[in-house]
This record gives sequence, C-alpha cells and structure tokens, in this order.
Amino acid sequence: MDLSYSKQDKAFRKQVRAWMKKNVPKKDKSLSTLAPDDPRRIERAKAWQRSLHRTGYVARGWPKEYGGQGDSDVMRQTIVNEELILARAPGLIGASGLTMLGPTLLQCGTEQQKQRYLPTVLTAEEIWCQGYSEPGSGSDLASLRTRAELVGDEFIINGQKVWTSGAQFSDWMFCLVRTDPDAPKHRGISYVLIDMKTPGITVRPLVQMTGDAGFNEVFFEDVRVPRDNLVGDLHQGWMVANATLFHERNMLGSTTRTQMMMHNLLRLARSHRRYGKPAAEDPVIRQKLAELLGRVEAMKYHSLRQLTDVIKGRRAGLGAMVNKLVGTELNHDICALALEIMNSYAPLKRGADRVIDNGVWQYEFMFTLGLIIGGGTSQIQKNIISERGLGMPKSG
Ligand SMILES: Cc1cc2nc3c(=O)[nH]c(=O)nc-3n(C[C@H](O)[C@H](O)[C@H](O)COP(=O)(O)OP(=O)(O)OC[C@H]3O[C@@H](n4cnc5c(N)ncnc54)[C@H](O)[C@@H]3O)c2cc1C
Repeated sequence: MDLSYSKQDKAFRKQVRAWMKKNVPKKDKSLSTLAPDDPRRIERAKAWQRSLHRTGYVARGWPKEYGGQGDSDVMRQTIVNEELILARAPGLIGASGLTMLGPTLLQCGTEQQKQRYLPTVLTAEEIWCQGYSEPGSGSDLASLRTRAELVGDEFIINGQKVWTSGAQFSDWMFCLVRTDPDAPKHRGISYVLIDMKTPGITVRPLVQMTGDAGFNEVFFEDVRVPRDNLVGDLHQGWMVANATLFHERNMLGSTTRTQMMMHNLLRLARSHRRYGKPAAEDPVIRQKLAELLGRVEAMKYHSLRQLTDVIKGRRAGLGAMVNKLVGTELNHDICALALEIMNSYAPLKRGADRVIDNGVWQYEFMFTLGLIIGGGTSQIQKNIISERGLGMPKSG
C-alpha cells in the first residue's frame, strides 16, 4: 500500500482547498433556530449543493449523461469529501439521493429511471428520503408490512413507515413495499419510487432528544404509484434494498469526520482546566485519550485499505460494515470523553451562559447515538460481520 499522494492529487487538493476557502457559506445563526423544513433553510442548503455541483465537486464519478463528471479517479472525490469536512462545510441536503438512491439506480435502475432521476439528485432540485423502517420492522426489515397491490399499471399502497429522515421536506421516497404477502418474507418485497405529493400520503414529524424533528412517521392510504416506478424486478426488492444499505453503511462511517472530532477533543483537553491544570495533564484523561487515538488510527488505516480496494476495482464487501460499526461508536465515545473532560459544565445546553464550544459536544453526543442505531444497529452489524465475514453459526 502506497500511503503518499501523487503530485496531481496534491495539486488538486490545493485547488479544492482554495475554492472551499472562498465559497463555504458562513454560519448563519438565525437559521439554526428554524425548523428543518423551513423554506429559507432548505433554499440555502439547496443553493450550496448547486454551487458544489456547478464546480464539479458532487458525485464526480457519475456518468456525464446523467449530469456527473464521468471522472473515474476515486482519489479526486475522496479529496473533495475530505476537504468539505476540513472546511467545516454544511452537509449536503441531497445526501440520501447522492449516497443511497443514486448508486442504487446506477446499479439496478432502467435507462429511463437513470435519465429521469439522477440529474435532479445532483442539483438538489429533488430531495429523497428512505422509506424502509416500519413499526415492528427495523432490524428485522424483511418483515415489513406496507402493502402494495398491483392493479393494472399502478401499485396501490397502504401502510406506515417510521423514522423516515427528512420526509417532511422530501420530494420523493425510495420505498420498500410488500407485493407478495404469500411468498417467504425476503421474496415478496419490491422497491418503488414514490412522489411525496401523491394524494393519500401524510407526514408527521417526530422530535428527537436533540430537540430537532429530524425524522417522521409517514402514512399511506390508497396511494397510487405507476408501475414504471418499480426499481429492479417485481418481488425482488430485497436485492435492490441491500445495494442501498451497502452504500448507506459506507457513508455513515467517515474517517475524516472522526479524525476531525478527535482533533477537536485534543484541543478541548489542552485548553479546558480540571482541578487547576489542563485536562490533558490528568493521567486518567490521558489514558482515555490515548485509547481513543489508537482506535481513530486503526479506523484510518482500515479506510485506506478499503480505498485501495476501490482503486483496484475490488468490492469493499463487509469492510463497509466495519466502517459503520467502528465509526459511529467511535464518534459517540469521543463526545462522551468531551463531556467527561468538561465535568460540571457538561449539563449546559447550547446558548447557556458559560457553555463550552457552544454546546456542540452535548448535541453531538445525542446525535451520534442515533447514528449507531440508524442504518442498522451495532448489534445487527456484529451479527452480519460474524456470520458472513467470520463464518460463525447463525443464532437461533
Ligand atoms: C437517527 C436515525 C435516523 C433514521 N433514519 C431512517 C430513515 O431515513 N429511513 C428508515 O427507513 N429508517 C431510519 N431509521 C430507522 C433505523 O433503520 C432503525 O431504527 C434501525 O434499523 C433499528 O430498528 P428499530 O428501531 O425498529 O429497533 P429494533 O429492531 O426493535 O431493535 C431494538 C434493539 O434490539 C436489538 N436487536 C434486534 N434484533 C436483534 C438481533 N437479531 N440480534 C441482536 N440484537 C438485536 C437492536 O440492536 C436494538 O438494540 C433511523 C433511525 C435513526 C436512529
């Protein structure tokens, strides 16, 4: 494995960094008090993604005919992703479309579907949400019950989804529905694309412990969806769903973000004083910092190995699950140590007098807990890694 960057990569990074310096939008505090679906917030987020796309920094690898750059150099997209995080740029509002639906359509969609949906995913003109989980069907996703009956050229959909992130401002949903209730559970599922403006859809936001309403309940009552919106074959949606899950799990464990959190934790430990000296000088805290640093380094090298696989055209396979498992737990543990370092300042909330780092650690502590659960919980990742990766027997 060659860990050095080529001359061209270094020059590209320099160019991206200069662009970010000039173009990353400044934090607008007035927006942070608005609801996630407030049009002003949405428009600003869409404008940011448009600007990145115009510059060629969004999904560079997608083919040109669907609005991408057709750039097969994986290093370049990796560099852009790293620089976005280092520049503390806002996240992309179209992330679900970019990282889950798009790669799935490229793999399993028809030519017509690719032409219709991919260009607007890139520009954030259409925002997508993921309709998988249901009450009673989360870890055991294949037990989902939302029913889609094929009548003529339309599906008629009835049922309920839950924990649907961003549904309240999404234009479309990629959704799993049961099309054959008599088949074994993995075989009677189909993958359909649903226009969120279709009559019969009700979206009810749910408030998380962070105080934000990030996800929703979505109800379907006789919702009519054209048969053309089926991705893959009828009743074969489980295979398509797994293509999406692979991309989601890869996205949820970003090494650069974890490295940046670790960097900020070290800064906090050096600057915040506990019992009359910097926290970093406390032997117990030092021990915990060293342990976390070791885990961050291990994750970094694991990701580099995966990057090598991608560059060499090999599939990362279960490596992506290890990323999700390790990355999400590590982010949460980093926040937990930050709260321990802050000691009696830890219970203070964003906006309170004397709150440290404007309460970002408290917020992230709660938010990162959600990411350990979303996209498949750690226990489920461990089950799959042990069964499919290590060949251990299935539990009863
Ligand atoms: C922040 C966030 C965002 C989300 N966004 C979306 C979204 O956009 N779209 C969407 O469809 N879903 C979304 N989800 C839902 C998420 O996919 C589910 O919460 C997750 O799959 C777990 O399902 P569940 O909540 O039903 O928990 P359950 O499946 O009921 O699990 C409860 C507990 O039992 C454990 N458990 C269950 N089965 C096993 C087993 N076989 N072996 C060992 N332990 C087990 C689990 O690990 C967990 O600890 C989101 C969740 C979160 C937290």
